[in-house]
Amino acid sequence: MALAPVATDDPVVDPKAVVTAIRTAIGVSDGHGFQPLHAPHFEGAEWEYVKDCLDTGWVSSVGSYVERFEKDVAAHCGAAHGVAVVNGTAALQVALQVVGVEAGDEVILPALTFVATANAASYLGAIPHFVDSDPATLGLDPHKLNDYLSDVSERTLDGVRNRRTGRRIAAIVPMHTFGHAVDMEPLISVAARFGITIVEDAAESLGSLYKGEKCGSLGRIAAVSFNGNKIITTGGGGAIVTDDAELAARAKHLTTTAKVPHKWAFNHDAVGYNYRLPNLNAALGCAQLEKLDNYVVRKRALAARYLSAFETVSGISAYRERCFAQSNYWLNCLMLDTPSLAVRDAVLTATNEAGLMTRPTWTLMPDLPIYADCSSMPLDGAREIEARLINVPSSVSLPAQSGGDDL
Ligand SMILES: *Cc1c(COP(=O)(O)O)cnc(C)c1O
Repeated sequence: MALAPVATDDPVVDPKAVVTAIRTAIGVSDGHGFQPLHAPHFEGAEWEYVKDCLDTGWVSSVGSYVERFEKDVAAHCGAAHGVAVVNGTAALQVALQVVGVEAGDEVILPALTFVATANAASYLGAIPHFVDSDPATLGLDPHKLNDYLSDVSERTLDGVRNRRTGRRIAAIVPMHTFGHAVDMEPLISVAARFGITIVEDAAESLGSLYKGEKCGSLGRIAAVSFNGNKIITTGGGGAIVTDDAELAARAKHLTTTAKVPHKWAFNHDAVGYNYRLPNLNAALGCAQLEKLDNYVVRKRALAARYLSAFETVSGISAYRERCFAQSNYWLNCLMLDTPSLAVRDAVLTATNEAGLMTRPTWTLMPDLPIYADCSSMPLDGAREIEARLINVPSSVSLPAQSGGDDL
């Protein structure tokens, strides 16, 4: 598809100045190699722990690294229990299932999210119900949600229902976009007022804080991801974290084929899943988690370099965490002062052509044909973010060792 020319009344942002400022922030000069959005980074005990799996033969569904990883992940999320699974999407699906989301229920989630959030609900036969995001936090807008729910919902004996569809609203899923926490305090009040359970999609926010509390500990249960592009990786993997021992035990049971413990008999008391994280991946994860705090420090330093490099570029700036948050800055964001898809696309073209990988945010969920028929509130905030935001290279290894001056 041809790019629309930048109309003359669009605000002026010089794409060349954006390229230069990104290079300054990440410490590379012209003629550098391709810079990905986010590359995995290994510098610790990864080789030792993975070799240990190979040496001992414990590579698959049983092994000591899985238990250790579950304990370590829970601790890093400020939760009492962790259940390691094959990916973050599976974690979210099972988290929704154990809090009682059933086929035919609706699940409130931001229109501005990765498709996995909506898919996880769909796998259970539940129907996503999309709500707006706040350009200040990039996450679900609790104040708009409150007004909206007051308008569209009604209380019944078995919970709160969407008056228009008659379906039960079974959960709210705040997603901490690119590592920046949702404004949880007002959201928790709204959820309590309407009696709806909060399930955090903390896939992007491992190591982020909200008012000093760890993301992943702010709802009833949470899902995290260790996909190759996240702040730490297990190759592929995810975890369910919660303070609730019963929910954790149920999640563990369901994700390990719902097998009833017995010395030799194969009895299964539910249609469970083979979602268990292999020991090999857990070993990688144990080594990565040892580095998480250090990675967060480095990513916050990179974010400071972006903020500084863009101070002098007109019409665009780097996104800064809110005062209530301490972010992992998983993916740094540039924000156009004025929403404009044409200007955004001109910047995307210039930066990618210069070997700097940049991306727009996800297509809003109701714009995907698969989710076009779902209920949605007006999405002014999400559409504004969509027309302002550009993700820029954010690997832990940045700034590069050579080239570029220190700021
Ligand atoms: C990565 C991600 C997921 C899913 O994690 P996978 O491990 O890739 O399945 C879910 N939600 C959000 C917001 C994500 O960024």
